[in-house]
Amino acid sequence: MENMAAPDLFEKIVSLCKRRGFIVQSSEIYGGLPATYDYGPLGVELKRNLTTRWWHAMTRRHPNIEGLDAAILMHPTVWKASGHVDAFKDPLIDDKASKMRYRADTLIEDQIARLRKKKKTQKADALAEAYAAAMNAENMCDELYKVIVEHEIKSPDSGSKDWTEVRQFNMMFSTRLGAVDKDATEIYLRPETAQGIFVNFNYVRDVSRQAIPFGIAQMGKAFRNEIVARQFVFRMREFEQMELQYFVKPGTQMEAYEEWKEKRLQWHCDNGVRPERLRFADHVKLAHYADAAVDIEYDFPIGWKEIEGIHSRTDYDLSAHQEHSGKKLEYFDTQTKERFIPYVVETSAGVDRSILMVLCDAYEEEKLENDTRVVLHLHPKLAPYTAAIFPLVKKEGMPEVAHAIEADLREDLNCFYDEKGAVGRRYRRMDEAGTPYCVTIDGQTLEDGTVTVRERDSMNQERVSKDKLLPYLQDQIRAYKPSFSADK
Ligand code: ATP
Repeated sequence: MENMAAPDLFEKIVSLCKRRGFIVQSSEIYGGLPATYDYGPLGVELKRNLTTRWWHAMTRRHPNIEGLDAAILMHPTVWKASGHVDAFKDPLIDDKASKMRYRADTLIEDQIARLRKKKKTQKADALAEAYAAAMNAENMCDELYKVIVEHEIKSPDSGSKDWTEVRQFNMMFSTRLGAVDKDATEIYLRPETAQGIFVNFNYVRDVSRQAIPFGIAQMGKAFRNEIVARQFVFRMREFEQMELQYFVKPGTQMEAYEEWKEKRLQWHCDNGVRPERLRFADHVKLAHYADAAVDIEYDFPIGWKEIEGIHSRTDYDLSAHQEHSGKKLEYFDTQTKERFIPYVVETSAGVDRSILMVLCDAYEEEKLENDTRVVLHLHPKLAPYTAAIFPLVKKEGMPEVAHAIEADLREDLNCFYDEKGAVGRRYRRMDEAGTPYCVTIDGQTLEDGTVTVRERDSMNQERVSKDKLLPYLQDQIRAYKPSFSADK
C-alpha cells in the first residue's frame, strides 16, 4: 500500500485508537490533560506484547545482558552528574501573534521537509546547511533565530513571521521529597531511564559476575515537559522507554555501535514493520558526550520521525557519576590486567512511538468488491487478541462448544468471544482490532468436530479439526508474513 502521507490518515488512526479501545487522552472526563494518554483494553494488550518481545529480544536471548527495574525518583545529584540540570534544554521560540510556543529546531526541520516535498531542493539544502551550522554554534539560540528570520519561516498556526528571540527551557519535571515544605528537597521525575542503569553499574556487575562486553536493559516511564506536544503519543509528557546500555572496552565501541544499529533495525522489521518505511538518520549535531549517534526513523503519515536513538556515549556517564559520587565505577580486566572506565553504546526506543508506528504501518483501508474494510495488519505476536471465537448461531449447543474451544485456547492465546450479530460484521470488528484469526463454530462442527478458521489478511478460510486448532494457529503465527492488498 502506498503511504498516503496525509494528515487525515493520521487523524483516522487516532480516531480508531480511541473508538476501538487502544488509546485515549488522560483524564478525558475532565477535558483531558495535554500530551498524556491512557491505554485502553486493546492498547494495553498491544503494549504488553510489544514490551515482552523487546524484553525477550534484549535480555533472554543474550546471556551477557541483564535486566533492571530502577526507581523513577533518583538522588538529585544524579541529574547534575548526567548534565540534565544544565543541559537538558530545548531552544524555544514564541509566535508573538498567536502566543503559541515552538521548538526552534523542530520548526526548521519541518520547513526543510516541506521544501523537499515541494521539490525545492536548493532552498532545502541551503536551509539544512544553515541549520547544521546554527546547531553547532556556541551561541546556538541566536543562530537559530537568525536562520528562522532569514529563511522567512512562518508560524504553523498563524502564518505570522513575528517571532520572539530563541530561549532555552529545561524540560525536567520537578517535585518535592519530604513532608515538611521547608525541609523538602527538590527532586526530578527521570527524563530518561538510562541513568538508573549507570548508577547501578557496579551493583549489576557484582551480582551477575558479567565480564565486558555486557549490557543492562530496562524499560520504564520517563517524563519530559515537552512544549510542542500535539502529535498524539508521538510526543508525550509521560512516556515509556526501552533502553539498553552496552558496556565495552574503550576502542571497541564502533564495532558494538554498528552491531546494535543492525540488530535494532531488524527488531522493528521482525514486528512486521515494512523495511522500506524505516531508515537511519545520522545526528546533525553530536551531543557533547557522544562519538557517534543515529536515529531509526519511520515514515509516519506526519513525515519521517525518530522512534529510537542509538548512541555511542563514550565513558562520559560513568566518569561523571564516579566524579560526583566519589565511588569507583571502573572495570578490571582479569586477562589483560587493565583497569578502565567502560565505554557505552546505548539503544533507546520509545514504547509509545513504537506502538504508534506499528499501528500506522498496519492500518489499511482495503477496497473490496462492494465494500471497503478497515484492517490492522498487526503481527499476530503483537495483536491484542490472537483469535476470535464466533458460534454462528446461538442454538443447538453451539455456544457450549464455542466456549469450550475458547477456554482451551485461552490457556495459550488471548481470545475474544462474540456470539452477537451477523458474522460478516463480527469479522469487520476483528479486522479493525487487528485480530489475525477468527474461528467459526457452525452446524458442521457439531457433526464432525471441525471449525472454520478465517485469516485476517487474505480472508481465506480453512476447515480445521477443533482438536488440532491450537497447533494449527501456532504454526500459522510462526509462518506469518505481513501482506497488504496492494501486495496481493
Ligand atoms: P526528539 O528529538 O523527538 O525529542 P529525543 O532525541 O529527545 O527525541 P531520546 O532522548 O533519544 O529522544 O529518547 C529516546 C527515545 O524515547 C526516542 O527515540 C523516542 O522514541 C522516545 N521519546 C523521547 N521523548 C519522547 C516523548 N516526549 N514522547 C514519546 N516518546 C519519546
